[in-house]
Amino acid sequence: MIALTHLTKTYGQVMAVNDVSFSVGKGEVFGLLGPNGAGKTTTIKMLTLLSRPTGGGATIDGCDIETRRKDIKKRISVVPQENNLDRELTAYENLMIYGMLHSISDRVRKIQQCLELVALWDRRDSVISSFSGGMQRRLLIARALLTEPLVLFLDEPSIGLDPLIRRQIWDIIRKTRIDGRTVVITTHYIEEAEALCDRVGILAKGSLIAIDSPSNLKSMVGEFIVEFINGDGKLIQHICRDREEAHAVAKGTEQAVTIRKTNLEDVFVKLTGERIE
Ligand code: ATP
Repeated sequence: MIALTHLTKTYGQVMAVNDVSFSVGKGEVFGLLGPNGAGKTTTIKMLTLLSRPTGGGATIDGCDIETRRKDIKKRISVVPQENNLDRELTAYENLMIYGMLHSISDRVRKIQQCLELVALWDRRDSVISSFSGGMQRRLLIARALLTEPLVLFLDEPSIGLDPLIRRQIWDIIRKTRIDGRTVVITTHYIEEAEALCDRVGILAKGSLIAIDSPSNLKSMVGEFIVEFINGDGKLIQHICRDREEAHAVAKGTEQAVTIRKTNLEDVFVKLTGERIE
């Protein structure tokens, strides 16, 4: 459904996206994971036609992002990081205006469907300024779904939301996969990538440094981690292949240890020596 080939974007001396190639299959939930400044938003902006590449290219559903922009616009929808809803209007009015601007047929029925999906149908006549941050994010998702896109892009879908609300957003994103829709998210939340994504591409300083399912990425570095604080107060971590190795390492350590399963943060640390969050 999506194919990036040597996609590159430079801003002056800054290499925001550096020769990135990967593909995303139909119906997949794919995540771009990386710390701030890794190049996630820039990658999404090129795929959603908000920014032009300085090298390489990409296709969506076989359409080139440079030469078939109109065709791509018909196939994609974006939930941006910034909230660009009209705060003076109601939820329903926001979607109705969007539906009219995009000449969406049968929009009354579709608006109801989308508002029900994000559990905002009962609040359709409330103005946006009375909505919490989580409700506004849900409405942004509903609005993006109104065009029934083949591919839905969400840039940091749960940024700034508290953990409980974040989980509500994840449930909604899972529901958006209906009809084989492809979903691409950017995130710097480890938990979000692990909870939602079939596959994750890890970006660091503009480059793709690993790509696979969360479980394969974790087994690539080791399943378990033994942690303890050494005599100098420093956190020491030993990544272990499996539980047996972790117990053997723990036995040979004098300090009190914690044994836990590895996560995508550990994968990032192992590959870059830095932390994501
Ligand atoms: P964040 O979540 O903080 O946006 P990100 O991983 O999405 O992080 P990008 O926003 O894509 O990262 O930024 C990648 C790099 O490109 C950063 O060094 C950023 O400063 C730089 N950059 C992004 N947009 C511009 C721009 N319009 N002009 C100059 N540099 C930019």
